Amino acid sequence: MKVERFTVGMFQVNCYLLTDEATGQSAVVDTGETDELVRLLEGLRPKPDIRLLLLTHAHADHAGALTHLQARFDAPTYLPALERPLFEALPVQGAWFGMPSLNRPCGRIDHEVHDGDTVQLGETTLRFVSTPGHTPGQGCWTDGGDIIVGDTLFAGSIGRTDFPMSDPRLMVDSLRRLMALPGHLRVHSGHGPMTTLGEELANNPFLGFLRKERGLGGPPGVRWAPGL
Ligand SMILES: [Zn+2]
Repeated sequence: MKVERFTVGMFQVNCYLLTDEATGQSAVVDTGETDELVRLLEGLRPKPDIRLLLLTHAHADHAGALTHLQARFDAPTYLPALERPLFEALPVQGAWFGMPSLNRPCGRIDHEVHDGDTVQLGETTLRFVSTPGHTPGQGCWTDGGDIIVGDTLFAGSIGRTDFPMSDPRLMVDSLRRLMALPGHLRVHSGHGPMTTLGEELANNPFLGFLRKERGLGGPPGVRWAPGL
């Protein structure tokens, strides 16, 4: 699977174009909050054959431009089921963060996904891994070589857990499950550069609790959730 990154909007969110190399079929993961991603995708040659729209979570910078995407590249759209309440709040979400100009329409959801669900992109099978904490339904999409993690994990950091509807205790458990996946997985985050699960397990200061649990060496890490 080919993974191309497009960084857009005032939060410099990473959106991804995933392409199954056998068939040339593509999926878009996350949207940005303006029509910037649509314009970037329209500029690509050859034109992408977009068959799926996937969301990692429903913060406005990740899902706020869904209506723009659907107007130009209409395709079946998948939302983590547990993310529905945050998604429904898109019209007021900007105001929660003191930025009413970021209030957005919801767009259309065709399928809700749960942990372990799969979707087919040409000959590539994408599996949904639920990793709540940053938001109630935040999740990741993986083909076994790459994993698109949204705001679950960043190179050297993790997604914030102090937002409305965040839960640091859920995040601790989600990171345990995410980091149980193979270390060679290439991690494509919602913000910042690419990394791997192995690199983050070895060095990420927010994963010190995991290194301790597993008896691994490396930096001790920071306490960021109750009980760590
Ligand atoms: Zn977010």
